[in-house]
Amino acid sequence: MRSQVGSTPTLFRQPFMTPADPARSSPRPALHRPPSLDRLLDRPALRTLVDIHGRGPVLAAARAYLAGWRESAADQPFDPAPFEDHCRAALEARAAPHLKPVFNLTGTVLHTNLGRALAPPEAVQAVAEAMARPTNLEYDLASGQRGDRDDHIEDLLRELTGAEAATAVNNNAAAVLLLLGTLASGKEVLVSRGELVEIGGAFRIPDIMRRAGARLVEVGTTNRTHLRDYAEAISPRTALVMKVHTSNYAVQGFTAAVPEPELAALCRERGIPFAVDLGSGSLVDLTRWGLPAEPTPAQTVAHGAQLVTFSGDKLLGGPQAGLIVGEKSLVARIKRNPLKRALRLDKMTIAALEAVLKLYRDPDRLTRRLPSLRLLTRPAENIRALAERVAPALAQTLGDRATVQVQPCRSQIGSGSLPVDRLDSACLAIGAPAGAKRAGGFPDRLAAAFRSLPVPVIGRIEDGQLRLDLRCLEDGDDERAFVAQLPLLKLPQRV
Ligand SMILES: *Cc1c(COP(=O)(O)O)cnc(C)c1O
Repeated sequence: MRSQVGSTPTLFRQPFMTPADPARSSPRPALHRPPSLDRLLDRPALRTLVDIHGRGPVLAAARAYLAGWRESAADQPFDPAPFEDHCRAALEARAAPHLKPVFNLTGTVLHTNLGRALAPPEAVQAVAEAMARPTNLEYDLASGQRGDRDDHIEDLLRELTGAEAATAVNNNAAAVLLLLGTLASGKEVLVSRGELVEIGGAFRIPDIMRRAGARLVEVGTTNRTHLRDYAEAISPRTALVMKVHTSNYAVQGFTAAVPEPELAALCRERGIPFAVDLGSGSLVDLTRWGLPAEPTPAQTVAHGAQLVTFSGDKLLGGPQAGLIVGEKSLVARIKRNPLKRALRLDKMTIAALEAVLKLYRDPDRLTRRLPSLRLLTRPAENIRALAERVAPALAQTLGDRATVQVQPCRSQIGSGSLPVDRLDSACLAIGAPAGAKRAGGFPDRLAAAFRSLPVPVIGRIEDGQLRLDLRCLEDGDDERAFVAQLPLLKLPQRV
């Protein structure tokens, strides 16, 4: 919740909440008057606040304090010190950014609620310049005519995926919506029953089909779908065959799915476009760094998919975006859809995306230059060494109120990427002290204390402990910033 200048002032209470003095409370005491608002605002401390925050907000903070003072303390002389403290605190709270950095020690690297992929410095720099200066966003410098905002990234995406054409929108959910709305509105789309994915509650393939005006035709069964199931379901009403990468779950056991090349061949033979929603879409083969395999858009294009959609901020490691690559004529139809205008990328995203895609031209240096890959490929020994370095400072802060241990743990990739694979990591495991009578609720209170640090620390609660997985705490500056704020931790009372 946002704090407001007009909200209940808290600071004034303390200095005035002295126990009622019977000698003073009867007969009724004389009411004191505070100086006028004008005189109060003329005090040096208040003048400084006006310089920083502006007159209106300072007036509002002063009025809120005076209202509280009249209600509860008007029988005592007006003290300007708590008044000034209140105004300063209320105005600082109001000015503090609501969107702010946190430490992601959840163990989930691409955490959707914590903003997914982190941008490399090249992208940050490009975004800052695109924001602060005019750019050729939609301007063709060669001809002096209007240009197309996709021009800044289309060649890069073609180069990196082998597709003929590419376009981009605000996120992958939008890419799927736009694709379906363009190619399948009023018609049927075939999807395997094993691929009717829900991603994070609000994005479900059946719902998005309906929104796009397409009719979903389910093919096969939950665990097994064969080529003949698709072949039999194709009719004159079929507009599209779509495969959806089962990003956030795995069907195991007695299963069958149709390989992309076979499905692509069937679609080609029957003259029906074949689209694949990859979800994450790593642009490089992750197995070269010992990470689990994830299909790449280049492979999917090579398998004969005519359109492929994937996210910019999952394994790709860039800004939030939805990328669509594929055959020129189909991408051209998608770009002509008026919805494309509503879902288009802004210049900040285009600047960041171009910078991140350029890093992929040199895959050998990617794990150093792209933060998400750097974190995902970080060796467990390195994380453990960091945990051993940080643990003493934490133990000192915790004193006898909690125990801390360095423990092995497993991180996950997140954002529905590679749901069953885990990465070896190390964590600081914080628990209730040995003699604690009632340890129930202790980890929750501890977690709340870490969340209220100046740079909130977000961990996870497991087995009655608060665990801080240090995979995403980088050595050096990040580590020092984490340790530096530990003394500010407001620990829960001993239980
Ligand atoms: C994550 C995902 C989406 C949604 O992508 P956003 O970029 O989060 O909008 C769509 N389809 C699949 C298969 C996904 O994994």
